[in-house]
Amino acid sequence: MSYLRFMDKTLHIVGGGMAGSEAAWQAARAGLDVVIHEMRPKVETFAHQTGNLAEMVCSNSFRSDDHEQNAVGLLHWEMRQAGSLLMQAATAHRLPAGGALAVDRDAFSAHVTETLRALPNVTVSSEEITALPDQGHWIIATGPLTSDALGRALQAETGTEALAFFDAIAPIVHHDSIDMGKAWLQSRYDKGETEAEQKAYINCPMTRDDYEAFIDALLAAEKTQFHEGETAGYFDGCLPIEVMAERGRETLRHGPMKPVGLTNPHQPDQKPYAVVQLRRDNALGTLYNIVGFQTKMKYGAQTEVFRRIPGLENAQFARLGGIHRNTFLNSPTLLDAQMRLRSRPHLRFAGQITGVEGYVESAAMGLVAGRLAVAEILGQPLPPVPQDSAHGALIHHITGGAEAKSFQPMNVNFGLFQPLTGLRGGRRGRKDRYKAYTDRAKAAWADWLAAQEEVIPA
Ligand SMILES: Cc1cc2nc3c(=O)[nH]c(=O)nc-3n(C[C@H](O)[C@H](O)[C@H](O)COP(=O)(O)OP(=O)(O)OC[C@H]3O[C@@H](n4cnc5c(N)ncnc54)[C@H](O)[C@@H]3O)c2cc1C
Repeated sequence: MSYLRFMDKTLHIVGGGMAGSEAAWQAARAGLDVVIHEMRPKVETFAHQTGNLAEMVCSNSFRSDDHEQNAVGLLHWEMRQAGSLLMQAATAHRLPAGGALAVDRDAFSAHVTETLRALPNVTVSSEEITALPDQGHWIIATGPLTSDALGRALQAETGTEALAFFDAIAPIVHHDSIDMGKAWLQSRYDKGETEAEQKAYINCPMTRDDYEAFIDALLAAEKTQFHEGETAGYFDGCLPIEVMAERGRETLRHGPMKPVGLTNPHQPDQKPYAVVQLRRDNALGTLYNIVGFQTKMKYGAQTEVFRRIPGLENAQFARLGGIHRNTFLNSPTLLDAQMRLRSRPHLRFAGQITGVEGYVESAAMGLVAGRLAVAEILGQPLPPVPQDSAHGALIHHITGGAEAKSFQPMNVNFGLFQPLTGLRGGRRGRKDRYKAYTDRAKAAWADWLAAQEEVIPA
């Protein structure tokens, strides 16, 4: 370890949240000197309450711990195999919560803070970074509440279009759960040069009765409020659908649900009263988003309301909709497969700012960014993160697989994985399919870790 100290191979990490803390741990274990630049408690955010590292700002759950049937549980498994500090802390301070990994939040972040502060090669510097550093090795992991000054510096580098300050997430549906006996493929007015373009959308038709019942359900559904201090700075282009419905019962029928330019091949003589459109969300074609359906409805209400749409009665949601304060990059255009900013490759990004969503996904991106930084600094190239692993599926999605134009933050889910052939489809085959995905992922991840064993032992 000592020879490294003469070679200024310091890794600087901006932000000591989920991603930054895990990245610091991975790099420190490989013997690098690490400086975590964390602005709290000097500069506060509206959501954090303490000056601790890895603070959970809202729920105290890392979600499902099932590593055979659940993609987030698989991410837990992969992180544990890689010696993750956050998973160690979560396991040590686990609370009873059925199949979920819920934790004692204060004990969890105290564990992470004390462990990192106790390492001789880790320094925690209490300061806000306000400009993009010109040189050195950096990981930027400042999260959804990146400070204003750094946000402005990033925007100057990336352009205003490529850095968002709010997410406006429309629900995302697994393609194989849509009933194509009711829905059909068609772009409005069959626009497009190729057949693929002319059939780019999935359309779900509604009769007048369907539409009226849908509007009633939407207006009655329970909604979440913006957090205090989180300005409702959304614009007409991304109004929640329930706000549109409140403006008038016909507003949606003249907006995202307009029925024009579309013919239902299942009932060609019957003009739909309204149409819900879904657009492909990833290159694999396994996920579709409901166009224009960003919402502040509570999750339970969303599932109930959206399953009223003809064709979506059995929809499985890869993620539900939302609108939040969230700083994130248009990673498919800005980051390379190593999570480096293409225009300044000495800056690597990790965590929610890369366009993943959730504590676990953010920590997982920190874990990989830390390992990739170690490999680069030590001049020991790594094979690409395998796309079949949960980590790799997420990285592949954010750095290239996702549609750049409609890019919104993403949770890990099996829709991001390359489909397996020869397995039974639909609900009945799900258990075997998920087991096959997780088995394949575990093997790929174990190989990737083995390739780094000498630099970072598991
Ligand atoms: C209000 C809110 C509620 C949420 N609820 C949940 C939930 O219930 N479950 C869930 O899974 N996810 C939730 N999330 C998402 C959650 O924040 C992220 O999933 C996770 O914390 C992101 O990890 P991160 O490391 O990317 O960012 P963070 O954990 O936020 O860490 C970023 C760190 O960077 C610091 N920082 C910011 N700017 C600077 C700067 N310029 N210089 C130095 N330091 C800086 C911040 O102080 C912070 O400590 C929520 C997010 C918000 C905003």
